[in-house]
Amino acid sequence: MDSPSRSSVIVIGAGVSGLSAAKVLVDNGVDDFVILEASDRIGGRVCKENFGGVSVELGAGWIVGVGGKEPNPVWELALKSSLRTCFSDYSNARYNIYDRSGKIFPSGVAADSYKKAVDSAIQKLRNQGEDADDLSIVSEPLCTPKTPMELAIDFILHDFEMPEVEPISTYLDFGEREFLVADERGYECLLYKMAEDFLFTSEGKILDSRLKLNKVVREIQHSRNGVTVTTEDGCIYEANYVVLSVSIGVLQSDLISFTPPLPRWKTEAIEKCDVMVYTKIFLKFPYKFWPCGPGKEFFIYAHERRGYYTFWQNMENAYPGSNILVVTVTNGESKRVEAQSDEETMKESMEVLRDMFGPDIPDATDILVPRWWSNRFQRGSYSNYPIISDCQVVQNIKEPIGRIYFTGEHTSERFNGYVHGGYLAGIDTSNALLEEMRKDKERKSDGQSFLLEPLLALTGSLSLSQTEAVSGLHKCDLPTQLYLNGKLGIQEAIL
Ligand SMILES: Cc1cc2nc3c(=O)[nH]c(=O)nc-3n(C[C@H](O)[C@H](O)[C@H](O)COP(=O)(O)OP(=O)(O)OC[C@H]3O[C@@H](n4cnc5c(N)ncnc54)[C@H](O)[C@@H]3O)c2cc1C
Repeated sequence: MDSPSRSSVIVIGAGVSGLSAAKVLVDNGVDDFVILEASDRIGGRVCKENFGGVSVELGAGWIVGVGGKEPNPVWELALKSSLRTCFSDYSNARYNIYDRSGKIFPSGVAADSYKKAVDSAIQKLRNQGEDADDLSIVSEPLCTPKTPMELAIDFILHDFEMPEVEPISTYLDFGEREFLVADERGYECLLYKMAEDFLFTSEGKILDSRLKLNKVVREIQHSRNGVTVTTEDGCIYEANYVVLSVSIGVLQSDLISFTPPLPRWKTEAIEKCDVMVYTKIFLKFPYKFWPCGPGKEFFIYAHERRGYYTFWQNMENAYPGSNILVVTVTNGESKRVEAQSDEETMKESMEVLRDMFGPDIPDATDILVPRWWSNRFQRGSYSNYPIISDCQVVQNIKEPIGRIYFTGEHTSERFNGYVHGGYLAGIDTSNALLEEMRKDKERKSDGQSFLLEPLLALTGSLSLSQTEAVSGLHKCDLPTQLYLNGKLGIQEAIL
């Protein structure tokens, strides 16, 4: 068992945000840190597994936001590592919508449904905006999707990737292109590369004793003097500060307790953020029976039940000859699929595939079902802020509490939900912490360290409102440009 030893900073979590945070600390001369990671690996939601002879991405699969006015930092890391990627063109998916008898809907019908769904989503946004401004306004009724085709399109627009209509800052800043990672080393090799820059490694293995795997943090005690972190195996770590990078799902769970408890404005903000569950189910076949070639990578299944095995992808572009299909389910369907056996999920998927491609197709020989919701170190796939929520929520989630600094994709105001969001959030959080460390040093040299005490009393107080307790917050500008769900969004939807 480790004996308590005091370091400058404890970073909790070794996903992309925890690692980028730690790297910034080292770059600024803070070497005495410890990273406590609950699982037996680094990477968090960037995670590959060997399946059917190739490497598949259970978590993040795409580098989203490429080709725009600014370089996406994750794309830059990918270029440096010569990561193998494939451009994803979703624009044809709507021409590959199958009904339950295996017929593809004519493109005109698909186009009409798309337009209807987009108009309805824009109307919903307007109604919500007006309702937020003036409660006396009676909202116009929305057209509700009814047919399997309408339900499939509605699912893709609202629940597939980012569930709501929103301005997608990633596209505005970094561009609208998306690249699927198709590299045997996995997306995670970017994170190993980053770790190599500041942790001691040998022959591709991290040997640095500052990285501690299998350390599940269960309690964070904090006071004006420092923080004490206790792990499930009874180890105790002490530090001046903590950088907490666990997911929003973990923050909403009771895995980590805080002493004293987090103030109410903080826990309320944490509760307000939705957690999206996104599950890619991988199926391996003895041979391919689905259409391949340009414009055929993605296809859609229209069923009376919304979100029922709706969105499909063949992996031929990524790994030719791999004979793998991926079907994505989200939220309620994800939770349902996680709760049942993989055999049951395989049976349901095969029924759906036989609807689309006929009774003679071969059975899948293998299945892989990631369980992000059941994983107590994740409790979901990524954050999704409600559409008309003001930026106060994300700022409150991000705001430090005394010596605890919060980071992770969910703390990124502009890029939450993405790998680059996590990466940039880690950098931001460490910069804020370094600033505080500098101030603290100055205060100490001026003999004013007592000033921290009233501040902690304020932020720790349950009786204060968020506006009283949080300083320096600003409202975000209202969105000037609106986009629908990234992948199959408004730009493509206007046919
Ligand atoms: C299925 C799926 C698909 C996705 N697709 C994409 C995509 O295509 N493109 C994209 O850009 N993004 C995608 N994302 C989102 C992206 O993966 C995340 O935004 C990003 O990886 C989050 O990084 P993070 O550092 O904030 O959190 P994490 O990677 O979750 O890191 C947090 C770490 O904290 C650890 N931890 C948790 N609890 C404790 C504890 N008590 N003690 C110690 N350690 C703890 C966890 O094990 C984890 O390693 C996807 C995510 C999922 C799940």
